[in-house]
Amino acid sequence: MGDDFDAIVVGAGMAGCAAAIRLAQGGANVLLLERGAEPGTKNLSGGVLWGHDLDRILPNWSREMPVERHIVRKRFGFLTPGSSLSFDFEDGAWRKEPYVAHSVLRARTDAWLAKQAEAAGATVVPSVPVERLHWEGSRVHGIVQGGETMTAPVTIVADGANSRLSLGTPIRPNPRLDANATELGIKEVYRLDAGTIEERFQVGPGEGHAEEWVTGIFPFGVMGGGFLYTNADSISVGLILRLGSLYGRNAYSQELIEEFKLHPTIAARLKGAELVEYGAKLISSGWASRPAAFHGDGWMIAGDAAGFVFSNGIVIQGMNYAVRSGLEAAEVALHARETHDASAARLAEYDRRLESTGLLGDFRDFERMDRVKWNPRYYTAYPRFAMELFHAMMTETGRPKVPVRRLLREAQKAAGIPTAIALRDGISMIRDL
Ligand SMILES: Cc1cc2nc3c(=O)[nH]c(=O)nc-3n(C[C@H](O)[C@H](O)[C@H](O)COP(=O)(O)OP(=O)(O)OC[C@H]3O[C@@H](n4cnc5c(N)ncnc54)[C@H](O)[C@@H]3O)c2cc1C
Repeated sequence: MGDDFDAIVVGAGMAGCAAAIRLAQGGANVLLLERGAEPGTKNLSGGVLWGHDLDRILPNWSREMPVERHIVRKRFGFLTPGSSLSFDFEDGAWRKEPYVAHSVLRARTDAWLAKQAEAAGATVVPSVPVERLHWEGSRVHGIVQGGETMTAPVTIVADGANSRLSLGTPIRPNPRLDANATELGIKEVYRLDAGTIEERFQVGPGEGHAEEWVTGIFPFGVMGGGFLYTNADSISVGLILRLGSLYGRNAYSQELIEEFKLHPTIAARLKGAELVEYGAKLISSGWASRPAAFHGDGWMIAGDAAGFVFSNGIVIQGMNYAVRSGLEAAEVALHARETHDASAARLAEYDRRLESTGLLGDFRDFERMDRVKWNPRYYTAYPRFAMELFHAMMTETGRPKVPVRRLLREAQKAAGIPTAIALRDGISMIRDL
């Protein structure tokens, strides 16, 4: 008997929607399943979307998709208790059409993308929490939900970071995520009228401003970063925390985000804004969070489920990789359909495509980045060093001025960074980034 579908895609996030759109455009009979009542309702993202991969399936996406603002400025820096040090980056190219980066709210974008999948001919079914993959020996042959099996020669697993479909299976033999390769994202959305946003952040109508902060303000050695993005008439603000650094430390995510928002630099940006939405979500980021394989007999894994999130303290990019991996999985599934072959050997083309498009390299080649990213001194000692130095250089005290070389030494002493450690960290920065 034939299969129910040519392909089943689980999860209507960026990865799953992109895959379903491409499959339907290629003439495949595709089923897209989403556990949320509507695509997007379970999704949470900061989020700045670098969407050029969408050009491949939706050439007019940046005009038609409900994006918020096009980003024209990025600010990044350090927060220490009561103080902040930041750098602004304004790229003239970002102000020109077609705009390269947009702030987005996922409830809107994902619902729109799922509609595009439907318009292309995919069957999109929300409110379906897929229970498990349907394994026949080492082959995946569809999914199981509500005791029923739906079959397809190819299943694309795009169920996000905490991929329940793959945990404890040959895809990810460990039933639990590794806390040191997982981050916790906490996000809140504050309503603020467009005019106030534009005045406060000095952007024009439709223009957006994005910020990323290394947050050296938390006690107990909690490591993480903060973000703030302007939407059309709201502000997204939140934290991304290393899960492993939260364990056993009596640190609660709600207290941490309150502390972040109370920091004078952040509080000034949120003044008068009203909280309208909040949520938390896991992020599997980097090479250490990859599954045992990206494909096998009858399956491929895409997006966050595969650990395709690049985050280094200055940027967090996952939606772009979700779209790209979803598209590559769809291309391979279309070839499998043409050749009536969905074996692991056939689907190995997925890995080759991830490689040739540079996606795998972006993770494998930056594996050592974590040594810098999770060096605790970048959250406490170095921000303190920078603040001591700038405080001394910028503040007029009436006392004689001190030469910079001495200020550097004094700041180093105040921050408690021995020279040998500073040298080692400097070498690691050059070697590992
Ligand atoms: C706080 C935060 C800020 C971020 N900021 C940015 C940013 O600024 N820029 C950026 O590019 N990326 C950002 N990211 C990362 C980005 O959100 C992800 O990389 C992206 O959402 C991945 O898309 P995805 O489709 O793989 O997974 P998801 O968006 O997680 O989608 C997975 C979908 O699968 C569904 N699902 C799960 N299990 C099942 C099941 N069993 N059955 C049916 N459906 C299921 C879920 O409901 C969900 O809709 C951020 C993430 C967080 C948490």
